[in-house]
Amino acid sequence: MENFDVAVIGGGPGGYVAAIRSAQLGKKTALVEKDSTLGGTCLNVGCIPTKALLESSDAYHAASHRFAEHGVQVASVELDLSKLMARKQGIVTDLTGGIAMLMKKNKIKVFQGKGSLEDARTVLVSTEDGEERLHAEAIILATGSTPIELPFLPFDGTHVVSSTEALSFDKPPKSLAVVGAGAVGLELGSVWARLGSEVTVIEIFDRIAPFADKQLSQALLRGLKTQGLDFKLNTKVTGAELPETTGENIRLTLENAKGESETLACEKVLVAVGRRPYLEGLGLENIGLEPDDKGRIPVNDHLCTSVEGIYAIGDVVRGPMLAHKAEEEGIAVAEHLAGKAGHVNYDAIPNVIYTSPELAQVGWTEAEAKENGKTVKVGKFYFKGNGRAKTLGDDGGLVKVVADAETDRVLGVHIVGPHASELIAEATLGLEFSASSEDIARTSHAHPTLSEALKEAAMAVEKRQIHG
Ligand code: FAD
Repeated sequence: MENFDVAVIGGGPGGYVAAIRSAQLGKKTALVEKDSTLGGTCLNVGCIPTKALLESSDAYHAASHRFAEHGVQVASVELDLSKLMARKQGIVTDLTGGIAMLMKKNKIKVFQGKGSLEDARTVLVSTEDGEERLHAEAIILATGSTPIELPFLPFDGTHVVSSTEALSFDKPPKSLAVVGAGAVGLELGSVWARLGSEVTVIEIFDRIAPFADKQLSQALLRGLKTQGLDFKLNTKVTGAELPETTGENIRLTLENAKGESETLACEKVLVAVGRRPYLEGLGLENIGLEPDDKGRIPVNDHLCTSVEGIYAIGDVVRGPMLAHKAEEEGIAVAEHLAGKAGHVNYDAIPNVIYTSPELAQVGWTEAEAKENGKTVKVGKFYFKGNGRAKTLGDDGGLVKVVADAETDRVLGVHIVGPHASELIAEATLGLEFSASSEDIARTSHAHPTLSEALKEAAMAVEKRQIHG
């Protein structure tokens, strides 16, 4: 049995980053991954393929609908879906191959097989060819998550699908119902709407992106409606009849908050109601570790479980299920194991929806700040007053800065608009550095850039914005 200082189970952004940082810090490191490629959900069936599809579908949509306003006439626009999918797969292959190279570069031994804990120092790796054991002083659990199924609407991979299948339809469905208006549902709903499907998003709450600031959620809703997505808010799916019974389409039964029922017929249903930690066959019972009531592995601030030498990170523990949060935890736990400080600032983890417009936020919403006992000052700036947004032909959103009324410290920044995913980085840095709204307001921003909208929103906290 080979000995390691650190063994990581799961090769997603949490696990592979933890492995690289451990190796950098001089630890003999092993990584166990059950799938044939590294990169986990994020690289294989999550962050990366969705963004590739969003980019390609946006290009198709722009050529079909937006080129003309630039005076660019296109005789006819045709969709080659297999080429679009091949491009997506090429990007995934490129990036997952890159992670395999990083493992070699950092001298991390990769075991391809399913890992399970025999005891708190031994990992059993099972492959089709047999079994292998490895011993490690510290074991990091990073096995990620899996889509949640609705009991009356189980995934069948064809009609009722999870995000994984919705990344690879062989043609745009004529009609697609999306259950759940979170990031995954809105992004994949946008992809297929741009490629020609009739998309209806069903959301049990009264707004889309329920985690977001209410005003920004409304701005996003307006933007998505203009692209042709239909929404049924305050509505839940209560039943489904499959094509075997109806003869053609799936028939969903919907019920709104008033208790009124209606049916919705569609070719496919994407169920995007969230994900749950994936702990199958991990052998937690062998070391006396019990998941909490949400199926997560309980950890303390240093990501230690209650069993000495066993750590857990990423989607299997509390906190937002985001790749960059998993990565931060991977670095923190590796540094902690090497006797360093290792820390994650959960108050400054940005959250993004990559639709058009994009929604990005970091820190507290106005409502959360008030719930936490803060008196707040709020500055807003609309992209219609921003020159660069005008030149992009995309001036529909706004930036909102929430600052502490007593100290002026920025508590949260919320953006709906073009490239919000990139703009939020400045706000995140601001939160990390405990910036005041005045710090951002007095920082010179290049003109003309979208980032000037953040500066103006920060200026608006003291009602001294120039262009709004
Ligand atoms: P994972 O990435 O899930 O990796 C876990 C790995 O462990 C997998 O490779 C799995 O095969 C392996 N594994 C599991 N059990 C075992 C075992 N017993 N033995 C060996 N290996 C095992 N997040 C963002 O931040 N930005 C986005 O834009 C974004 N878009 C997304 C889009 C979609 C459609 C989806 C589904 C998710 C998206 N996410 C996004 C979420 C993001 O993918 C996850 O938060 C992230 O991948 C979690 O990382 P992880 O390392 O914890 O787990």
